[in-house]
Amino acid sequence: MTISECLRWATALLPSDSANLEAHLLLAHVSGLGRTTLYAWPERELTLGVVQQYQALVNQRQQGVPIAYLLGQREFYGLDLQVDQRVLIPRPETELLVDVVLEHTLLEHAKVLDLGTGSGAIALALASQRPKWSISAVDQSEQALAVAKANQQNLRSKNVEFYRSNWFASIPQQSFDLIVSNPPYVEPDSEYLRQGDVRFEPINALVAQNNGLADLFAIIDQAPVYLKPGGFIWLEHGFQQAEHLRQRLIDRGYHGATTCRDLQGLDRVTGAQWP
Ligand code: GLN
Repeated sequence: MTISECLRWATALLPSDSANLEAHLLLAHVSGLGRTTLYAWPERELTLGVVQQYQALVNQRQQGVPIAYLLGQREFYGLDLQVDQRVLIPRPETELLVDVVLEHTLLEHAKVLDLGTGSGAIALALASQRPKWSISAVDQSEQALAVAKANQQNLRSKNVEFYRSNWFASIPQQSFDLIVSNPPYVEPDSEYLRQGDVRFEPINALVAQNNGLADLFAIIDQAPVYLKPGGFIWLEHGFQQAEHLRQRLIDRGYHGATTCRDLQGLDRVTGAQWP
């Protein structure tokens, strides 16, 4: 089959609004040809091996497997991150969390903790923007940590240390200037979990008990033991959870609880200072 035959076949099959783009991305991925080559050389014949790999990927995409998993890659905060089914796919709204943290933390040598790091997205983005910060990043999933460490190697990021911990459980006592997290915060019975990409993502990275608040609250409650006086906590959360989080922060003795909105105008990131 030629490039254009493959692309036409895939575009007709793919259900997505961006079928044409996805057809190109997947073909560029399996063929090793640049997307410009695909446009410029439509009559080029592809090897049987490439065509078969392509058909397999297009079929998976047709069944809903996220494009990021099929490509094995997603860009986050200007970094090319390797991703697969072991980790949540980094989201644009989490770039907001990185922005907010960078804006509010003026220290040159901050000591930072990222809880539930997944692919390492937040930790590696902060590390790339602030090479003098010293960042610890933990996850309870050994599988996720393998992905995070691979990303660290690919990016040659020196100021991040990844290790296993279920929230604070295995973190040696020490004090941080800043604690950040994008924990699971979706309600267990949410309709949202039955549609689109999330169906293929690790459920542990998405869902939390108590209407999605259990992990956010656990982090807020335990963080003071690990925060320096004057240190900050910043958390990503669901758009209807901000009020609950600010109240919890106030109840636990933090001050200056603040919420920031994402690009869609939804409450998405809340932070406060300790004590
Ligand atoms: N923001 C993610 C989503 O809406 C949820 C990720 C999370 O629970 N931390 O899919």
